Amino acid sequence: MMTKEQYIESLRKLNLKVYFMGELIENPVDHPMIRPSMNSVAMTYELAEKDEYKDLMTATSNLTGKSVNRFCHLHQSAEDLVNKVKMQRLLGQKTAACFQRCVGMDAFNAIFSTTYEMDKQLGTEYHKRFTDYMKFVQDNDLTVDGAMTDPKGDRSLSPSKQEDPDLYLHITKVREDGIVVRGAKAHQTGAVNSHEHLIMPTVALKEDDKDYAVSFAVPSDAEGVIMIYGRQSCDTRKLEKDADMDLGNAQFGGHEALVIFEDVFVPNERVFMCKEYEFAGMMVERFAGYHRQSYGGCKVGVGDVLIGAAALAADYNGVPKANHIKDKLIEMMHLNETLYACGIACSAEGEKMPAGNYQINLLLANVCKQNITRFPYEIARLAEDIAGGIMVTMPSEQDLHSKDVGHYVRKYLKGAKNVATENRMRVLRLIENITLGTAAVGYRTESMHGAGSPQAQRIMIARQGDLESKKKMAKEIARVDESQNQ
Ligand code: SF4
Ligand code: FE
Repeated sequence: MMTKEQYIESLRKLNLKVYFMGELIENPVDHPMIRPSMNSVAMTYELAEKDEYKDLMTATSNLTGKSVNRFCHLHQSAEDLVNKVKMQRLLGQKTAACFQRCVGMDAFNAIFSTTYEMDKQLGTEYHKRFTDYMKFVQDNDLTVDGAMTDPKGDRSLSPSKQEDPDLYLHITKVREDGIVVRGAKAHQTGAVNSHEHLIMPTVALKEDDKDYAVSFAVPSDAEGVIMIYGRQSCDTRKLEKDADMDLGNAQFGGHEALVIFEDVFVPNERVFMCKEYEFAGMMVERFAGYHRQSYGGCKVGVGDVLIGAAALAADYNGVPKANHIKDKLIEMMHLNETLYACGIACSAEGEKMPAGNYQINLLLANVCKQNITRFPYEIARLAEDIAGGIMVTMPSEQDLHSKDVGHYVRKYLKGAKNVATENRMRVLRLIENITLGTAAVGYRTESMHGAGSPQAQRIMIARQGDLESKKKMAKEIARVDESQNQ
């Protein structure tokens, strides 16, 4: 396994093409806008080195028998699935941000099981290829961008019916030694901090769309791969001189990027689906299921920090004993633990797949994510309520340090006695960061749309909910005799 330092050095060796605000970024690793997100991924390496976290952060590879970072692991039991969620909660607590590495882990497990079943039915050889790829990933302890979401253009049209065929990533050429692909993947979490991109289709596909049924892996600096770094609310605060307090979280962050594939060549040994459209839906459903489980861990960990910050804000405002404050904090914890309960439940109810790895219970994972589309918003609302309006009207840290007006800021932003004004400001800025600032991408809007928008989960709940068996139960209890129906 790599140490945190080795991970950072390994990124320096990549020749990435990253654009931000119209400019090609020379050195993404040390760029002040990008660095906090890289620090979050680095935490997945750092914690794996520590004895106290070994059980959660590492696992024994079923492929090599070696100890691997859990982010590179193929889950071998329901306990592994539970440990995955616990690991994600831990990392959410340590970073208060998206630590990005889960998309790769979720893609590994979805592609591993799908290629196995695809080969069984079609006589293809993708599973062996993918297994070899997994060994490469595990042996080198890589961070991999599991990439699913295409830009999608006109949502009423299928991929092959789009005016611009590139709005879904597709195969443009099949050569003897590999394939050539073109298109893009949108809002790719951690793309710039990843060694590899691992691509999957974005929707279930029909025969007309078979050129869009493609799964493959390429290094993140492969010829023709271009990344355009996404903006976040309040992001340019990171460019301010000596930026610290006003960031709310100066150390960690997350990021997304638009990743473009401009006629990228993929050698055969890295192709895991090539036009087998019948299996696109299976891969999508499984990746989405794993990632919906993931949110029952990471968002809960960030939620823990937000709840802690709200409680501190109450202390620093001098109102920790007010009954309505206590009740709001209880409500926040109740909502947060409900999300965790869903993450644990879909894991504990996981099952062994024909390929041998374990998959979450899909119905419960979808229920988990559906709750995630709502509860973090309520938790954020309550945090803002407790924090008070000063959270968004507060003077800057430069004003606090100004020799002209600093004493006013210190005097008039004072809260409870014995509490330094600066500490009160720091906690309020942290709440601002998670609810409205750079981390709000991960905690709020991503809670809505990441791993699929709410309607996608409702479709899965409808499919998995087995309404007919519930009707049967009701009929039996009520002694309904349907032969009397006209
Ligand atoms: Fe991991 Fe959560 Fe970020 Fe997804 S949103 S990559 S599950 S931390
Ligand atoms: Fe996500």
